[in-house]
Amino acid sequence: MGALRDKFWELPLDQLDRAEWEALCDGCGQCCLHKLEDEDTGKIEGTNVACKLLDTATARCKDYRNRKAYVPDCLRLTPKLVTEVRWLPASCAYKLRAAGKPLKDWHYLISGDREAVKQAGISVAGRVVSENDAGPLEHHLTEWDAE
Ligand code: SF4
Repeated sequence: MGALRDKFWELPLDQLDRAEWEALCDGCGQCCLHKLEDEDTGKIEGTNVACKLLDTATARCKDYRNRKAYVPDCLRLTPKLVTEVRWLPASCAYKLRAAGKPLKDWHYLISGDREAVKQAGISVAGRVVSENDAGPLEHHLTEWDAE
């Protein structure tokens, strides 16, 4: 991995190199949860049910590098997709930067603390159940985005 540029997170998303792009993620894990879409209204509801690859204690992917082999529909975010996907949380670092907004104070790149995302109530660590154990998603509707 090459050196990350000073304050790379203030650059436009399409100017980030691969390592910087990956480093921008705050690790909240919210995008790794199942969502339900209301057929009539199109409204997207959150759940507390995590992808089978998410470590529910840490909110980290258990095999990020090879995740597509296990979960083919796992989304690989791009600057364009970030503006199109409706279910990313308002706190998502990519979404904030795509809108020209600064990262939140608790983001580890600002705070220097990887745990701050938990203290801010944004991380799903310890608050979700694996899809392997959950049963029907309808029983797990949850509102996230504590901010
Ligand atoms: S929602 Fe955004 S910041 Fe949070 S884990 Fe997913 S990509 Fe990273």
